[in-house]
Amino acid sequence: MDKIICVGKNYLKHAKELGDAVPEYPLLFIKPPSSLVRMENSQVIKLPRGKGEVHHELELVFKIRRDNMANEISITAWTLGLDLTLRDLQTQLKKDGHPWERAKAFPQSAIVGEFVHLDPGPQSVGEKELNETFELVVNGKVRQRGQGKDMRWKPDFLLKEAAEAFYVADGDLLFTGTPEGVGPLNPGDKLTLKLGNLLEYNLKVE
Ligand code: ZN
Repeated sequence: MDKIICVGKNYLKHAKELGDAVPEYPLLFIKPPSSLVRMENSQVIKLPRGKGEVHHELELVFKIRRDNMANEISITAWTLGLDLTLRDLQTQLKKDGHPWERAKAFPQSAIVGEFVHLDPGPQSVGEKELNETFELVVNGKVRQRGQGKDMRWKPDFLLKEAAEAFYVADGDLLFTGTPEGVGPLNPGDKLTLKLGNLLEYNLKVE
């Protein structure tokens, strides 16, 4: 694993809630391996302090396999992830016309669940996966609920785009964007994250 590849504004309603223009091609960015933390039940998320609002972005995350012998890349597994974002800082950086890394690439900003293997095949991410509902409940209220079929660019296309833009290494992760409903996390929040009947996590915020 070399990096975490992320896409911005891949769900229309989310792009609109941020009041952003909708790009005509995938907006890709990278988080370093140091931002990765494995999601486990009862885990405590420690929020960065003194940096303004920290937003949750619930996303489908895919694992990339690179077969160097065959020079092929494919998607082999999926899970849920939280792309934590320093929203106030990101808004300021955007306003100043600067890149957003400081708002996205901080330690433990990419929280990733256990990977579930996909059926192998040329189109490994199919209807079944894209119709699965994923959701984030904060303190008993649904904040985000989405389905992969609402992505503007689907995982297989994003993988091609990422491979064209960067070197894609074996084990790299692909965050595929967040549906609408992003918002701040606060100390004391209790989160439940679900991917259909496949995965469920309960987390706490400090
Ligand atoms: Zn995101």
